[in-house]
Amino acid sequence: MNIVFVGHVDHGKSTLIGRLLHDTGSIPKDKLEDIKERCRKNSKAFEYAFLLDALKDEQSQGITIDTARCHFKSDKRDYILIDAPGHIDFLKNMVSGAARADAAILVIDALEGIQENSRRHGYMLSMLGIKQVIICVNKMDIVRYSKKVFDGIKNEYSLFLSKVNVKPKAFIPVSAREGSNIAARSGKMAWHKGPSLLQAMDSFSEAKKLDKRPFRMPVQDIYRFTDLGDDRRLIAGRVEEGSVSAGDEIIFYPSLKRSKIRSIEMFNSPEMKSIGTGRSTSFALSKEVYVQPGEIMCKAKEKTLPYTGSTFDANIFWMGKEPLVPNKEYKLKLGTAKTYAKVRSVNRVIDASSLKESVAKMQVDRHEVAECTIETIRPMAYDTISQCEATGRFVIVDGYEIAGGGIITKAAKNGGMGLKEKVGIRDYKWVRSGIKFSKRLAKYGHKPQLILITGKRNENKIRIARKLEALLSKKGYPAYYIGIRSVIYGVDSDIRSAERYRDEHLRRFAEVLNILLDAGLTVIATASDLHEDDINDLKTILKNKEFLLAIVGENYLVEKIADIEIPKYMALKDVAIIIKDHVLSSR
Ligand code: GDP
Repeated sequence: MNIVFVGHVDHGKSTLIGRLLHDTGSIPKDKLEDIKERCRKNSKAFEYAFLLDALKDEQSQGITIDTARCHFKSDKRDYILIDAPGHIDFLKNMVSGAARADAAILVIDALEGIQENSRRHGYMLSMLGIKQVIICVNKMDIVRYSKKVFDGIKNEYSLFLSKVNVKPKAFIPVSAREGSNIAARSGKMAWHKGPSLLQAMDSFSEAKKLDKRPFRMPVQDIYRFTDLGDDRRLIAGRVEEGSVSAGDEIIFYPSLKRSKIRSIEMFNSPEMKSIGTGRSTSFALSKEVYVQPGEIMCKAKEKTLPYTGSTFDANIFWMGKEPLVPNKEYKLKLGTAKTYAKVRSVNRVIDASSLKESVAKMQVDRHEVAECTIETIRPMAYDTISQCEATGRFVIVDGYEIAGGGIITKAAKNGGMGLKEKVGIRDYKWVRSGIKFSKRLAKYGHKPQLILITGKRNENKIRIARKLEALLSKKGYPAYYIGIRSVIYGVDSDIRSAERYRDEHLRRFAEVLNILLDAGLTVIATASDLHEDDINDLKTILKNKEFLLAIVGENYLVEKIADIEIPKYMALKDVAIIIKDHVLSSR
């Protein structure tokens, strides 16, 4: 069971963890002596927190997360304790999936009392859906084990927690330094009738059976083995929830590509039939499909599947130096997907410490929580937090820093218009030409048709297109060549970064092609590096229009969708003739 320790700095988180490890006999004697000896040598007072530091160094090797973890065993179960030095790191790790906490221990200093951070952390636990929480009122030795002090903190903090819907399992007065009420009840606080910390931890119920939940694996990477003459591709990632077996039908979101699991491939491990939550793995598929890192792999027959769209409602916890404002572009990371997003509206803002609310505020300041509607620049797959925690959470990056974390509460009803809907409206509103299609056909003698030439950069596509244009024109076709650049610097002059708005550039290019085809032309177009999903989008926009796809040079397409494959180093003239022959035969 993973337990995270949170609380204001210096309230004693590390000491508490050190104590817990020590008092449960989880620290080897020689190690303890070693640390004590080192302290003596350096004339430094021994601190239980040093145990944690020593273990951190030892255990964190090879772990690339910012929080340290320690393991220990009670009579009841195994624990992983996660020390969250700051709530930003904690949030970052929780949201990125680097750390998953089943329960939390929140530490409050008895002398200093409840700090703003104590409340913010409580709020965050509520937002992250961590339901099992223990509150330790620490440093009871400093307040002479006073029941009154403890009760004061307990009453005040209970009230706060009830407002944020957290029902703590226990409030425990402890002294991490003295070891009171940690692994065993302490005689010094006989007035405390509740459990020791360890007893309370042991009474946590086991994490819900994540293997039984809907299967979700954000795709991290796709490996190819072409070097070894093997054309297999492996889809790699970490199973966030649920389980799958070889033979299961799967579907990727948002591309909706389907295939079947041929085998589960684990490095250095015997073949596995099934795999469950928390494992990093890779899959070979029965039918190769084109998917990209960032998609979510799901089981096709599952009842609960992710949403796809570009709009959703979310609760955002903001930690950025600059406020979160509507219409500014931020990076958004969800699972393994990265995209750009804007806040469409700030619906309600709450101060995470005072819980003061405002519906009039238009921006979200540091340490505030807000209910917002978010719009991403491209449709993405996501879950609501109640469906799946790992793919229902995201982080927002402002510049280069993680500035906020959020959970998706609702898939917005007007969830961003999909391409199909946009095309539907376009066709409905289309102003038709006065000349009938049949008349135009009779005049040109050829059906309008698109020949789209793609391939990697520097494959001579433009020269091929021009040659083809000349050949077809000679044959009497109303041939017209257009390259994507003609659109980028004209129709697209209002959008800048080509990479970020690649989809939008392509969409507009396709709309221009659609107009040229409507005019009855034989359109020859070139665009580099088109992939399966680009081509699908083009086909959606060009609805029912004739379409030939030629790929020049290396055929990097995973699916067999190219009509014409032109090998590398073929003479320009021959290439154009091959394509022309295809066009002629497709009449
Ligand atoms: P963290 O920042 O929350 O991890 O806090 P630390 O565990 O580093 O503790 C901060 C300081 O409080 C250290 O100097 C500890 O020795 C001290 N401290 C922690 N627990 C207790 C306690 O129960 N009693 C007393 N008197 N001091 C404590």
